[in-house]
Amino acid sequence: MSRRQPSPGLADALAEVRAIYRDLADRPAERDCRSLAGCCQFRQTGRTPVLTRGEALLAAKGVRAAGRKQLKPRPDGACPALGVDNRCTIYDFRPFGCRTHFCAAAGGMIPRRQVADLIQRLEALDERLGGDGSRPFEAAVGDALDGAF
Ligand code: SF4
Repeated sequence: MSRRQPSPGLADALAEVRAIYRDLADRPAERDCRSLAGCCQFRQTGRTPVLTRGEALLAAKGVRAAGRKQLKPRPDGACPALGVDNRCTIYDFRPFGCRTHFCAAAGGMIPRRQVADLIQRLEALDERLGGDGSRPFEAAVGDALDGAF
């Protein structure tokens, strides 16, 4: 019989997400993200990254580190974390999807089988944090900034 693990504190949760991102960076998958920001144009691409709670908490930390308390929707429908200089304002804190998906120029989507174990770790952490699965960027990060979880 499996026993549910206790909910981690914020520091432990953030450390786990960072460890998962480090493990991803150590994978042999070729990536060439040069901050072209094409994948950040949600309205144009019709795609939005979805975040587990741990990812949202870390992204919210990035928003605060960038000196903002809230994310405001952009009139052009791009990611609200995209800066006026067309660069990600939370690059070191960006979610898993921004590191693995969307962008053809950066190498295209990493096949799920190459990162399935990392996704499972993010999902397991989400469950331990009381989450109910991945949610779109703006809702997930907005709730994390509001202290909703
Ligand atoms: S978090 Fe950063 S990299 Fe990801 S979509 Fe938003 S601006 Fe782009």
